[in-house]
Amino acid sequence: MADYDYDIGIIGGGAAGLTVASGAAQLGAKTLLIEKEEALGGDCLHFGCVPSKTLIKTAHVYHLMKSGPEFGLPAISPPAVDFRDIAARIKSVIGVIQKHDSVARFCQLGAKVEFGNPEFIDEHAVSLGGKSISARSWVIATGSSSALPAIAGIENTPYMTNRDIFSLDKLPASMIVLGAGPIAMEMAQSFCRLGSRVTVIQRSGQILSKEDLDMAEIVKAELEKEGVDFRMNASIVRVGDLGNEREVIIKNTTGDAETVKAESILVALGRTANVAGLGLEKIDISFDHRGIKVNNYLRTSHKHIYAAGDVIGGYQFTHVAGYEGGVVLSNAIFHLPKKTNYTYIPWCTYTHPELASIGMNEKNAQQAGIDYSVFSEEFSANDRALAEGEGLGRIKLLLDKKEKPLGIQILGPHAGDLLSEWVAIMNGGVGLSKIASAIHPYPTLGEINKRVVGSVFSPKIFSNTVRKGLKFFFSFKGRACICGEDLDCKEVSNP
Ligand SMILES: Cc1cc2nc3c(=O)[nH]c(=O)nc-3n(C[C@H](O)[C@H](O)[C@H](O)COP(=O)(O)OP(=O)(O)OC[C@H]3O[C@@H](n4cnc5c(N)ncnc54)[C@H](O)[C@@H]3O)c2cc1C
Repeated sequence: MADYDYDIGIIGGGAAGLTVASGAAQLGAKTLLIEKEEALGGDCLHFGCVPSKTLIKTAHVYHLMKSGPEFGLPAISPPAVDFRDIAARIKSVIGVIQKHDSVARFCQLGAKVEFGNPEFIDEHAVSLGGKSISARSWVIATGSSSALPAIAGIENTPYMTNRDIFSLDKLPASMIVLGAGPIAMEMAQSFCRLGSRVTVIQRSGQILSKEDLDMAEIVKAELEKEGVDFRMNASIVRVGDLGNEREVIIKNTTGDAETVKAESILVALGRTANVAGLGLEKIDISFDHRGIKVNNYLRTSHKHIYAAGDVIGGYQFTHVAGYEGGVVLSNAIFHLPKKTNYTYIPWCTYTHPELASIGMNEKNAQQAGIDYSVFSEEFSANDRALAEGEGLGRIKLLLDKKEKPLGIQILGPHAGDLLSEWVAIMNGGVGLSKIASAIHPYPTLGEINKRVVGSVFSPKIFSNTVRKGLKFFFSFKGRACICGEDLDCKEVSNP
């Protein structure tokens, strides 16, 4: 057998790469991890999940400070924010989490970390800083970057992406957000709450286009109520730099043009795979702008070269990158063939209210031609939500013909956390009757999970058939009171 420097080499120190590196090293494989930035952690830690969720919290607190009267408190007008303080808080949260992803920690686990830009020189070796390093297996986990579609004028117009937005030294007075996906919506709401005048430009007629329209419309209405301005069905004609301001010229579906101006432009128009400079062409690894092509085992066109995480396109989430890292470990280290299974991928958009989902929504079920029924419950009927001033939103449970759950969407407070019960139900194949009879603590937001299941069983339990049966067996006397439509209620006397 050929002698390689390492058993496994991993390119990219984000969620996918770190999962493989820590697992492989702990399992005794001689492991090399190569990262091009100065620190490990990837986009999620430095320019993605962590900074965005930290910013969202800061914006939420500021929003609450201005919402006193809704909670029976005096109205106050807090002073304007200094974004340098917000950026410092973001940096400090990243700093704490960074310790889990330090070079020393990975060395303790047994993995060697190198920094630089590796390039494949053959199927088993990369060049890095002038030296050649070989490994029996390789994993490409280089993630993704903000996509920049061809927009006229963009090359001469300053714009921001997720790499810039968390370290600004000043809150933009106004901001145009290009796109209306999860990142765009989270940032639009946060910057609006912090005091920027925000305009969102979206090509289609729906924000969060993967979600059901009814749920996405509630999010949009809430953002509009808070002050975000939307231009829907708008195609971008060109962008330009006016010195102190930038302009975006858009056209609507009837061809009318409009110019929108703002201090800053945030580009959030999707993601593109980080494949440049890796030398993939030289070793015949197939890829396009969406990502590296892999099979169900996450193998590329070379059996011993795997790819995982955002770089393969698909579900671009940290938890999916981690999951795929686990699949690679199984295939490359344990040599136990494991295929990917994306049936129950949960996700959440952290707007306020949050929108979380697992399994199929109505859009997916319709596309797949599956017969389904929908059961829903509103947060306005959840006591805890009302106590917390969080009555906006609903849960939707989709069932197939046999009343097995196809999917769940939750729009409401802490929806991402509330979804966890459904992660267990769906993955564990738990019957709905178990949830209906399980005791949930009162008053909690989680009761909405039990209530929506209750709404599946209630019409059956409280049916005429059951009533008649009970009457027959136990001689029940029936109604004691009856109300008309005008709520004119009368006692019913015994027949
Ligand atoms: C603003 C924002 C918010 C997000 N919020 C969430 C969220 O709330 N929840 C969620 O699940 N997901 C979220 N995501 C998505 C999440 O960040 C990604 O899905 C996740 O980081 C993917 O992990 P990865 O390991 O594939 O890639 P990454 O984490 O990007 O890691 C790839 C690593 O490879 C390195 N690299 C790139 N090219 C090379 C090279 N040539 N050589 C060596 N190293 C290289 C990069 O520097 C990086 O460290 C968010 C993303 C953004 C942008």
